Amino acid sequence: MAEVVQDAQPEFWRPPSPPVSEEVAVREPVPSMAEACPRCGSEFLLGSHFCHTCGNRRPEALSPSARADAAVIAQVWEQGVHRVREFVRGIPWRQIKFPSWALPSWAHYLHFHEIKNRVGLSTGSLIAFVVGLACVAGALLVGLLTAKTYVDWQAIQFYRAEWLLGATAAFVAGILLKKPARDDHE
Ligand SMILES: [Zn+2]
Repeated sequence: MAEVVQDAQPEFWRPPSPPVSEEVAVREPVPSMAEACPRCGSEFLLGSHFCHTCGNRRPEALSPSARADAAVIAQVWEQGVHRVREFVRGIPWRQIKFPSWALPSWAHYLHFHEIKNRVGLSTGSLIAFVVGLACVAGALLVGLLTAKTYVDWQAIQFYRAEWLLGATAAFVAGILLKKPARDDHE
């Protein structure tokens, strides 16, 4: 083992050759830099890497080919936008009507006035009722949170209590907004 180490030592201590030469120190070709600051518009000083007015970093100038590409892309984009706009303008929006077979038979139950008629609540009451249901749903969803510490558990109880308070307030508002029943309903 010791012999191996002794043999290996000269290998390890060989000086680096060839010494660090120009190959490493050769600079990358300096990319052409932008003439003016894109942020404040002031001209960059010769050889500067930052804007002397606003401190913005000096970006590389776009090469002519890149500039041409950007122009082509911009043109294609403009044309595409124009075409889409023309297409949308060409659609006769007013004349579009959903055929009866496109809507399921139960879809009209989702209309607000239908619900109102069926449930027999005034608009305000119905909105309050829906808000109350949303609050109850929130209280139930709070149950999905998992508590790892006692403090978390306590916070979840507070959330639930707040949701239920909101639901209570909404339902009370719904009762208050309820119109007295008309004669023909009785
Ligand atoms: Zn600037």
